[in-house]
Parts: sequence; C-alpha cells; structure tokens
Amino acid sequence: MTRREEIIEILSKEEKSAQELANYFQIELSEIIQDLEHIKYSIKPRKLAMKHALCKKCGFVFKERSKVKKPSKCPRCKSEWITPQVFSI
Ligand SMILES: [Zn+2]
Repeated sequence: MTRREEIIEILSKEEKSAQELANYFQIELSEIIQDLEHIKYSIKPRKLAMKHALCKKCGFVFKERSKVKKPSKCPRCKSEWITPQVFSI
C-alpha cells in the first residue's frame, strides 16, 4: 500500500490534521500537504472533507482559507492558539 492509500484508509476512519499525519508517517508536513492535494482529486467521487481551523481564544473560524496548511495567527485577536483544520473522507 502506498502512503497515499494509507492516508485515505486513515481518513476514512477518523479525522486527522495534516500535522498528525506528518507525525504518523514521520515525514515533512509539506509532503503530507502534497499528498492531501493529490488525494483530493484521486478519490473522486468521494470527497476530502475539511473542518476549518479555529482560534481557541476568540472562536474565530478560518473559513476563507482553502489551503491545507495551518494558519499561524488569528487575524482577529492575534492569538497563536489555533486548532488546526482536520481532514476526513
Ligand atoms: Zn482569535
């Protein structure tokens, strides 16, 4: 099984953030992000669902952000306490 297939397996069962996946596979976050971008198209007609990142301090939701990368700072309160977006299939 390739790594991408394995990611699809994992995300079919539970939600994961890109960072969690990177930790799991012991690879760079940027590699996981590439994988996710690829998976998004390869799993059609299934969908890669993404829950938006959220500021834990003020509750700001990073809605407009469609990239898989985690935002680093809240634009509203400048907090860096951000819940990353999670993915599932
Ligand atoms: Zn905030």
